[in-house]
Amino acid sequence: MFKTILLAYDGSDHAKRAARIAKMEAEAHGARLVVVHVYEPVPDYLGEPLLKRRLELAESVLEEARALTGVPKEDALLLEGRPAEAILEAAIGEKADLIVMGTRGLGAIGSLFLGSQSQKVVAEAPCPVLLVR
Ligand code: ATP
Ligand code: MG
Repeated sequence: MFKTILLAYDGSDHAKRAARIAKMEAEAHGARLVVVHVYEPVPDYLGEPLLKRRLELAESVLEEARALTGVPKEDALLLEGRPAEAILEAAIGEKADLIVMGTRGLGAIGSLFLGSQSQKVVAEAPCPVLLVR
């Protein structure tokens, strides 16, 4: 039923569990799995070294997602911007028919049930969203 599944990955425990489920769902449906990691822009005045470090960190998070799911490099997207917006754009761009993500991420406020990014994606997604606890 699902042809293209998009996994949003931020390296959190929830996202790791989401990666496992996305992989299983993709296998079960014979679907293409695309993974996306979004890094937030660094203001110019903070300088090149910080930007470089931010990029390297983002690349390593994306690599981790690839290692957990086995998706090829061309299906691993590194995007700059606000996470929910970039995830939604990627879902549209890749014609995803399912988005898989964690209920929570790396944010500090553990008492909330849903993180702000998952909340926004659920509210605006063009397709079903599978939230992993
Ligand atoms: P908040 O960010 O509002 O403080 P949080 O970090 O606990 O809260 P979210 O950021 O909404 O919660 O994370 C929920 C899920 O969204 C994560 O498990 C992950 O699947 C996805 N996600 C969050 N940030 C990113 C990101 N930068 N790139 C890709 N996916 C992300
Ligand atoms: Mg977050």
